[in-house]
Amino acid sequence: MADVDSEPIEQAGAGVPDNFQRLWTPHRMAYIKGENKPTGSGADDGCPFCEIPKLSDEDGLIVARGSAVFAVLNLYPYNSGHLMVCPYRHVSDYADLDGPETAELAEFTKRATQALRKASGAQGFNVGMNLGGVAGAGIAAHLHQHVVPRWGGDTNFMPVVGHTRVLPQLLRDTRDLLAGAWPAAS
Ligand SMILES: [Zn+2]
Repeated sequence: MADVDSEPIEQAGAGVPDNFQRLWTPHRMAYIKGENKPTGSGADDGCPFCEIPKLSDEDGLIVARGSAVFAVLNLYPYNSGHLMVCPYRHVSDYADLDGPETAELAEFTKRATQALRKASGAQGFNVGMNLGGVAGAGIAAHLHQHVVPRWGGDTNFMPVVGHTRVLPQLLRDTRDLLAGAWPAAS
């Protein structure tokens, strides 16, 4: 049973949820605003994908770390369990990935689908990259592969106000589930 009077939890990268979240308990919703955009295109301009790996897995919502790439939950998810696979290196163009980055990005994409199937029973996936702002990339300067789990009947989820979305699980709980389901290297 959720505690409706508990204080909002600060989530790294997402800011502190405001009190509206209490309207939505018992699923203490992650409350997401568009307030963590980089100030420029450089790695030192507040790029979240350069900052996240410096955090603990729990604070950064990192599901798995490889040698060239990592998998992290999206703070602006299209669906519960929406993952991204990112190179550690601040690179915008897919063609600029080196061999090991290309291979591990593909391998982590595969494992992300396996983890999502195991943890959440995902029935399908949308997988891909938006390269460049004109293609819809939110953080165009640091490429990232989206892995969005899909279930029958999940469309038209509730965008409530602006970037706010109602999610059926806390992001931290989702991270724990997916990290536990992440397949070992084969
Ligand atoms: Zn970056």
